[in-house]
Amino acid sequence: MLDRRDACPATVQPGEGLPSMASLAGKLGIVFGVANKRSIAWAIAQAWHQAGAKLAFTYQGERLKENVEELAGTFGADTLILPCDVTMDDEITQVFARVGEKFGKLHLLLHSVAFAPREALEGDFLSTSREAFRIAHDVSAYSLVALARGAAPIMTDGGSIVAMTYYGSEKVVPHYNVMGVAKASLEASTRYLAYDLGPKKIRVNCISAGPVNTLAARGISGFGEMLKHYEAHAPLKRNVLPDELGATGAFLASDGAAAITGQVIYVDCGYQVMGM
Ligand code: NAP
Repeated sequence: MLDRRDACPATVQPGEGLPSMASLAGKLGIVFGVANKRSIAWAIAQAWHQAGAKLAFTYQGERLKENVEELAGTFGADTLILPCDVTMDDEITQVFARVGEKFGKLHLLLHSVAFAPREALEGDFLSTSREAFRIAHDVSAYSLVALARGAAPIMTDGGSIVAMTYYGSEKVVPHYNVMGVAKASLEASTRYLAYDLGPKKIRVNCISAGPVNTLAARGISGFGEMLKHYEAHAPLKRNVLPDELGATGAFLASDGAAAITGQVIYVDCGYQVMGM
C-alpha cells in the first residue's frame, strides 16, 4: 500500500522554501482610489501596510487631497501622496516617474477606481447615453490598462496588480447598468494584461466584492436593498466586511498567490454561487 509520506515526500522543512502566505515585507506599492476611511482601497491599503508593504497613494483633485493626506499620513510623514485623475495620461506618467524616483521600483498596484454619471445608474440600461458609456469605460476599465502600462517598467522584480470588480459584470443587477458593462471590460482587460505581463512575473487579478457601503456604492440607486438582499440570500447570510477584502488583497499581493493570475476572486459571502 502506498504510504502518504511516500507519495508526498517531506522535502520542505517547516519555515523553509515555501512562500510566506501574506508577508509583504520589503514590498513597495501604490494605491489608487482612497476617497475616505470607508473606501475599499483604504481597507486593502491598511492590510498591505500591516503585512509590511511601504505604500504611495494618489487622489483625484483637490477635493480629496486632505482626506487622503490625513489617512495616508498615519503610515508615516514621508508617505508619497500624488494627484492622479486616471483619465489623464500625463498625470499617470507623472505618478510613475515620481514613484520610480522615490522607490526605485514597484511591486504592488491597487486599482480601486470607478465612476459613471449618476443618471446612468438610475434608469434603465437602454437609455445609457454615448457619453455616459464612454466615461464609465474610460474611468473604470481603460484606466487599468493605462496604470498597468505605467507601472510595468518599474515592476522590475515582478509584481501584483489588483483591481476591484463586481458581479454585475456577469449577471444583470438592476440599476448597475453601464457599470456592469464596464466591469465586464475591466475583468476581460485583467485577463489580457495577465497574458501580456506574465513573462515579466507581473500578476493581474480582480477581487469581486459583495456590496460595501461606500461613497461610490451610495450612487447606485437601490443600494440599501442590495445589502439586504445579500444578507438574506448569500450562503453566509451576511455582507462582506472591508477587513475581509483587505485580507484577500494582502493574499493576492503576497508570494502565496504566486501562481494566480488573470482571475476574478469572489469575496461576497458566497452570493455568486446562487442560482435562486
Ligand atoms: P469609493 O470609496 O467612492 O472609491 C472610488 C474611488 O474612485 C474614489 O476614490 C474616487 O474618487 C475614485 N475615482 C473616480 N473617478 C476617478 C478618476 N477619474 N481618477 C481617479 N480616481 C477616480 O468607493 P468604493 O466602493 O471603495 O469603490 C472602489 C472600487 O470597488 C470601485 O472599482 C468599485 O466599483 C469597486 N466595488 C465596490 C463595491 C461596493 O459595494 N462598494 C462592490 C464591488 C466593487 P472621487 O470620489 O473623487 O470620484
